Formats: sequence, structure tokens, C-alpha cells
Amino acid sequence: MPKIAAIEYFRVPPRWLFVKITDEEGKVGWGEASLEGHTQAVEGCLDAYAERYTGMEADDIEHIWQMSWRLGFYRGGPVFMSALAGIDIALWDLKARRLGVPIYQLLGGKVRDKIKVYAWIGGDRPNDVAGQAEARKSQGFTAVKMNGTEDLGWFDSPSALDDCVERLKAVKALGMDAGIDFHGRVHKPMAKQLAKALEPYRPMFIEEPLLSEHLDGIKALSQHTSTPIALGERLYSRWDFKPFLEAGCVDIIQPDISHCGGISEMRRIAAMAETYDVALAPHCPLGPIALAANIQVDAVSANFAIQEMSLGIHYNVGGQDLTSYTHNPEVWNVQGGYIDLLKGPGLGIEIDEEQVRKFSVDAKAWVSPGFIGPGGEVREW
Ligand SMILES: [Mg+2]
Repeated sequence: MPKIAAIEYFRVPPRWLFVKITDEEGKVGWGEASLEGHTQAVEGCLDAYAERYTGMEADDIEHIWQMSWRLGFYRGGPVFMSALAGIDIALWDLKARRLGVPIYQLLGGKVRDKIKVYAWIGGDRPNDVAGQAEARKSQGFTAVKMNGTEDLGWFDSPSALDDCVERLKAVKALGMDAGIDFHGRVHKPMAKQLAKALEPYRPMFIEEPLLSEHLDGIKALSQHTSTPIALGERLYSRWDFKPFLEAGCVDIIQPDISHCGGISEMRRIAAMAETYDVALAPHCPLGPIALAANIQVDAVSANFAIQEMSLGIHYNVGGQDLTSYTHNPEVWNVQGGYIDLLKGPGLGIEIDEEQVRKFSVDAKAWVSPGFIGPGGEVREW
């Protein structure tokens, strides 16, 4: 069995971190370890993993996963689990390509042929959502997601929530569904009001209604509204998801495959959620490798519902978008709210390495936006 000969990473605009693994036969696999705003931290972790895993058998994906989780004493969290995701996804791509099959064939085979998708509208300070939703509709989307509010005080004027309700009504009037992302920027005194105000207009879900460190608060909120509650982009392993499933306060889990240890762990998180009758809607505002990896898990998961994709998201600026860095961007064409299952070997996308190398030269690490309140205080992004 071929051994790992090299592990490299490439920082590329708009804000992504790709991982390339080459085996001793010269075969390659690609992964994505993007962690928005923390690129340098993940790169440091990847340096250590590259030293540790070079020379190991490329087929031993689970052994390498367990070494990353258990051998280092410290475990979990966004940095370690994003670095591990980059390695894990690249090893799955490498193995499936060597066998000449899509990754989903190695996960038990597909249960669907098309993947339902949604896209972002409105930006960080939501505006012009009706116009943008209309544009998404003409691109083929039937569902979108938008931020609920602008930045908000811990306790703010109730009227700061009125615009959110109007925006939801405007999108629904176009015959589209909309998820409302509270983004962790809505604190408890405002979240219960906003959930109640949105409820009559039937959002597809409310996302991160409170930050995920507030399990008890989310549990209380879930008993206060009939709107499905979605969360999970800031949970990094099945151990992080477990208390939310046990508490019965989440309806839709949104693991981010680039932050939760890759294909191996997302498959397990999805299966665990299935036992609680909870749907899977993977978080993915990131690059083409992350999206292709998600689709491999979506393809085999009975409880998969809808996939986020970053086509034209407000962070994809400067000319690079989901369609960059690959030779077959047509796989992301949306029709009737769906994309076709990726049928090619490995991840099903063909990386344009020349373009990756070109744009990685002197690429800057992306810095997360920050909000400052009227008193000069920090507010959540
Ligand atoms: Mg979110």
C-alpha cells in the first residue's frame, strides 16, 4: 500500500485553505481546512500533522483520524478539527481516486441522485433581500438564508427586530423558503422576541438562535417556538453534538465539514442525529473542496435535508468564487433548487493546481469582520 509522501497546504483567496496529499506513487488527494479568520493557527497545526503523517500508509484514514484525536492529549476545538478535516478529506479523495470511484461508494453507496441546496442573500448587514432573492430564484434556487439582524446590543430596542420580519415576508412573497441566521449576534433577551415575531411567517429554520455555549438557553427557546432550530457550525465533533441531541433542543444539525474533522466525523455525526430524528443540513460558506466533501456525506445520509453552498456569497469577493480553482465548475449548476450528485472519482471535482499555486503566492489570511457598538464595545459578528 502506498505511503504518504508529502502533505502541503495552500492559502488562497477569498479565505480558503486547501490541503494536498501526494502518495509515493505520485497520486494526489485534496482537502479543505478553511477556518475563517484563523488561517495561521490551522497552518501551524498542519505543519505538525505533515511531520507526523508523512511516511504513514495513505489508506489508513481512520487510524490517522484517531491519532489526531487521541494521540496528542489535547483534542477538539476549531483549530485542531479544521486541520484534521483538511487531512481527512484529502485522504478520502486520494483513496477513492485510486479505486476510481466517488467517495460515496466507499461510504455505503448513495441514497439520492440530487442534492437540495440553498444560497446566501443580504450580506452581514442584511439589505436588498427581495432583489437578491429574485436573482437567486433566476439562478435556480428555491431557498435562501439571510442574517436576521444587523449587529445588536445585548438588550436592544424591540423595534430593531421589525425589519427582520419584513425581510422574511418579502422573500416568502416570491414563493421561496428562507432560513434566518441569528448568527450568535442575538442575545437571550432579544432572541426570544425575534423567534416569536418570525414564527407566523414560517422561516425554514432559525439558526444559532443563541451561541452554542448556551445549551440551557437554547433548550428553553426550543420550548417557546414551533420554528425548527438549526445549529452546529461551532460544534466540532460528535461529543460536542451529543448534549444538544440528548436535550432535544435541536431539529436540524449543521456540522461544517471543514471544522468537524472531515468526512469521517461528519458521517458519524449525521448517523448519530438520525437516531434522534434530527435532520442534516451541512454548513458550508466555504470553498469547492469543502462543498464536494459535504456532498459525499449528503449522498449517503438518510436524514440529509438541504446543503448550504457559497456561490456568490458576500465573502467571495475579488474574483474568486465557488467556481474557481477547478476544471469542472459546471457541477455547481442549480436547477429547480437542486444540484446533481457529483459522479466523478474521489470528490468529483478536478482541482486546477496551476490556479491554486498562482493565487496562493502572497495570499493574505482573511480577517473576520467585527462590529463595534455605539459605546465602543465589541459586538458579535
Ligand atoms: Mg450561521
